[in-house]
Amino acid sequence: MYFDVLVIGGGPAGLAFSALASDMGLTVGLLDRQAKTALSKPKNDGRDIAVSEASRKIMANLGAWTMIDGADISPIRSAKVVDGDAPFALNFNPGSAGADKLGDIISNHIIRRVLYRVAAQKENITWFTGAEVKALSRNANAATITLADGQVFSSQLAIAADTRFSGIRRDAGIKADMHDFGQTMVVGRMHGTIPHNHVAHEYFRYDGGLAILPLNNDIASVVQTFCAEQAAQFMDMNDADYARATQARLKGLMGTLSCTSKRVAYPLVGVYARQFYSQRLALIGDAAVGMHPVTAHGFNFGIQGVANLIEHLRKAQARGLSLGNIGALKAYNTDHRRLTWPLYQLTEKMVGLYTTNTIPARLARKAALHTAQAALPVKDVLMAKLAGVPVSKVIASKLSGKFPVPPSLPRF
Ligand SMILES: Cc1cc2nc3c(=O)[nH]c(=O)nc-3n(C[C@H](O)[C@H](O)[C@H](O)COP(=O)(O)OP(=O)(O)OC[C@H]3O[C@@H](n4cnc5c(N)ncnc54)[C@H](O)[C@@H]3O)c2cc1C
Repeated sequence: MYFDVLVIGGGPAGLAFSALASDMGLTVGLLDRQAKTALSKPKNDGRDIAVSEASRKIMANLGAWTMIDGADISPIRSAKVVDGDAPFALNFNPGSAGADKLGDIISNHIIRRVLYRVAAQKENITWFTGAEVKALSRNANAATITLADGQVFSSQLAIAADTRFSGIRRDAGIKADMHDFGQTMVVGRMHGTIPHNHVAHEYFRYDGGLAILPLNNDIASVVQTFCAEQAAQFMDMNDADYARATQARLKGLMGTLSCTSKRVAYPLVGVYARQFYSQRLALIGDAAVGMHPVTAHGFNFGIQGVANLIEHLRKAQARGLSLGNIGALKAYNTDHRRLTWPLYQLTEKMVGLYTTNTIPARLARKAALHTAQAALPVKDVLMAKLAGVPVSKVIASKLSGKFPVPPSLPRF
């Protein structure tokens, strides 16, 4: 069977790409190893995703945003980053940039569900579920994939959206830099008796990271990072013990805690592909850039990369070029690296700094936070990106003196 595009992986990136490609009038073969019900009614996987304004707009253009129940969208009004138990916090207040929130939090299974619904409405997408892709081969004219059951499909272009451990990327011989952080993230929802006022908190504690993603009704997604051994202990606790232990780590920030969901553990591995394209192949989503979740950008980068690739394919199509046009794929590669590389590097460095407990590392952490608070534009550029306001607006308001005066660097 022949398609214009074959998409391997029906996660958020693969689904969004397939829907947009279908809107270009292309025939799409969408393959995922999961069963149809697992894709159409995805189970809660514990991930609560901080969605940036840019990603919200892409989802809105796809028609996916209005499919989400308002009660399932939790705004992030501001955020604080705290080093250890120090009183100093790096504050992210979008009001100073003329925005009323930093972004919205939506459960990953809801994102998957609505993107599935959008893609399911497209007539020119052919679904292959329960389909394990085993091999990819390419030549100047076509990309061909073979399934585990022996079926063979060809296309002008193949899209790898098959997780950060992409088998397609490997088949194509594309190298990737992988960083096993030797840590596991434990995520679960908890209710607190003290209102969080929709302020997100990120604590870089000496005994492991701790983040609070504020959800509606004073529930929060509590994200804790440990070494694997400790993570297993926290996963094994009953709800009451887990709530008590977490409450102690939060030092009463949310009052008395109770668990409102099951917990899920994620081993942390960052991945950055050396190239996001090859002959008749493009990598998208985590297959291109698998971020450490601490800076909340894996999904955001994924969907922005999809919009970017579609734009370049549209231009190639308008010029009568093949979808596998190498110039279009190179342009996507350049744009997506420009978007993702700085934050990927920053995240790697930051996590490195916060998983080292030597005295110089602790001092460097404090200096980094104070510098980020004081320095233009490190913090402000990140905030502008999340809130979707022009960086120039943030800088102008800071220069006009409407910004709080940054504290001077601490003396150690
Ligand atoms: C705890 C946690 C919190 C996070 N928080 C945030 C956040 O706040 N903000 C943010 O932007 N991102 C966040 N992320 C990252 C985000 O969840 C991912 O970046 C995103 O889900 C990746 O989507 P994807 O479509 O690339 O891949 P996936 O969702 O991994 O989907 C890949 C699909 O490919 C299929 N597949 C794989 N191999 C094959 C094969 N051989 N044959 C057929 N099918 C195959 C799989 O079945 C799967 O359906 C978080 C991640 C974690 C773990």
